[in-house]
Amino acid sequence: VRRVAGRIRAEDVAAVREAVRIEEVVGDHLTLRRTGPDSLTGLCPFHEERTASFTVTPSKNLWYCFGCAEGGDVFDFQQRIDHATFAEAVERLAQRVGVNVRYERGGAVSGAEQGRRTRLAHAVTLAAAFYRRQLDEAPAAPARDFLHSRGFPAETWARFGLGYAPRGWDSLLRHLRNQGIPDEEALTAGLLASGNRGPYDRFRGRLVWPIRQPDGQVIGFGARRLDPEDTGPKYLNTPETPLYQKGRVLYGLDLARVAIARERRVVLVEGYTDVMACQLAGVATAVATCGTAFGADHARVVRRLLTDDERLMGEVIFTFDGDAAGRRAAVRAFELDQVFAASTFVAVQPDGLDPCDLRLRSGDEAVRGLIAGRVPLVEYVIRSGLSEFDLATAEGRVAALRASVPLIARIRDLALRPEYARLLAGWLGTPESQVNGALAAEVRSRSQADSRSDAQPGSEPGVTRTAGRGTGPAATLVPTARGAADDEPDRAGRLLEREALRLAVQQPGITHDLLTATAEAAFTVATARTAAAHLRTSPRPLPGAEAGWLEALLAAAPDDGQRRLLRALAAEQLLREADERYAEQVFARLAERHLDRRIAELRGLVQRQSTGAAVTEAGAPTGEELFAELMACEAQRRLLRERSTAT
Ligand SMILES: [Zn+2]
Repeated sequence: VRRVAGRIRAEDVAAVREAVRIEEVVGDHLTLRRTGPDSLTGLCPFHEERTASFTVTPSKNLWYCFGCAEGGDVFDFQQRIDHATFAEAVERLAQRVGVNVRYERGGAVSGAEQGRRTRLAHAVTLAAAFYRRQLDEAPAAPARDFLHSRGFPAETWARFGLGYAPRGWDSLLRHLRNQGIPDEEALTAGLLASGNRGPYDRFRGRLVWPIRQPDGQVIGFGARRLDPEDTGPKYLNTPETPLYQKGRVLYGLDLARVAIARERRVVLVEGYTDVMACQLAGVATAVATCGTAFGADHARVVRRLLTDDERLMGEVIFTFDGDAAGRRAAVRAFELDQVFAASTFVAVQPDGLDPCDLRLRSGDEAVRGLIAGRVPLVEYVIRSGLSEFDLATAEGRVAALRASVPLIARIRDLALRPEYARLLAGWLGTPESQVNGALAAEVRSRSQADSRSDAQPGSEPGVTRTAGRGTGPAATLVPTARGAADDEPDRAGRLLEREALRLAVQQPGITHDLLTATAEAAFTVATARTAAAHLRTSPRPLPGAEAGWLEALLAAAPDDGQRRLLRALAAEQLLREADERYAEQVFARLAERHLDRRIAELRGLVQRQSTGAAVTEAGAPTGEELFAELMACEAQRRLLRERSTAT
């Protein structure tokens, strides 16, 4: 992240830095778990990952991601998350903590000097306040009537910041001009639209929901038509602006964020009124997309708030109408479910009533019951697919089996597949063996397709790729675990190797023996392997003499590159608080991955020998020898696996 020359006074920047708590700013975007007295971790918002490598060190006002090797202070974070300039990030955070920011020349901030993003946010905030006031005025009667008719009494409106956009073409336009907002900025913020005769109010005669970021900043609006004569769409949203990107915005997240992190659950509903109904009925984790289908970017936002580790995944609950469109939406969500692993559910709305209608007809309890009655998404998708076949006939059952088996083969959690195969046999009324046979054939054909796509050479520089794509045990044993590839195994491997070296440099007392026992080839990155060799051959430091030890290491380093690496390793923050237990886990995992690579290699060799594809050189190990080594490796890995996962 490059900093634009700061025109904000240095003492003001310092005051903001002093007042802001970095863990709170970061915590708006991901759920942080405390891993030590001065460290927290979560899923990185800047790259795709399944286990946490994003760390925050509050005392140093620092964040660092071991996955993408990016880091910085709280301003860098705000800049990157908002795609903003340095000045804009300072202003945003200054607002948050109530610090007045002044610029080098002149006294107070003048509009023209402020960052663009800050100016747009200011315009949108003014608009939200304007709409809110209009809701009390006489012309807003249809909006108030609508809200009452949907079960939302006046005392609930402020919580959601509801407002009314007057019917005229220039009500907001004139208000913003009076407040000194140039038309051009109001246009960029999506508040105005431009026509032949100049700019005019985008939302007219509509009930307005402000769409807020997790920290409460309004960035856009959703607006509902009230006038039956209005020929525009029923719902109108702010278009894409520098502030508002509908693909990753979730309505209600500002209200639901804390509950989502606490309950490890998120409920996805369809509309603004559904979010309100859920919130008021006590389902505090409800959010909705804004005028677009739930997509991959939304999924990432949700996942980061739910958990910092795939194994600790919370629940994602989609609410759907039981009709054909609802089923299609569920199937789409199933595709996305590969992001969410196996913890996605569907709450099917009785009689097609959305949460808002349901609450209106049957009360808060019914809304909570809707969510409580959720079924696993996989089950819902399979069973609603079965309803399209005539299961009374043999032909219908076979066709239904063919349609369902690919769905089961796509479930990423391998432990769930036999479970669903068994369930499917029951739903179809066919023998389990028939389902298992079809499933095995499907998995085989998928794995062939996978190995074809794996034939491309690795593109990561500096990484020695050995046989096979996978580095995790699941990927090696079961090549169909496609999802395992999402985690960029090479990157995960580099991360692990680096953490091991960090431990070796920072905690030589507890890691020296572990490192000595580790095979050189366990380090795949050339520079890491050199550093490991150097560390291994250096004499073990005496207790209390670690400081001198680092100097001796640097002095004995083979070249400047290695010296730079050693200094970085000494300075970098460890992923967890280092203790013996953790060091053992890291080195066990390293050894395990090394074994995985050797096992994949051996499997290939054994297979080629048994099919006669390999020409055996004189002195090369025989098939029996290879197989014996393979078995020994497998046994050793089982031991390691127990050690690296035991708590
Ligand atoms: Zn990252």
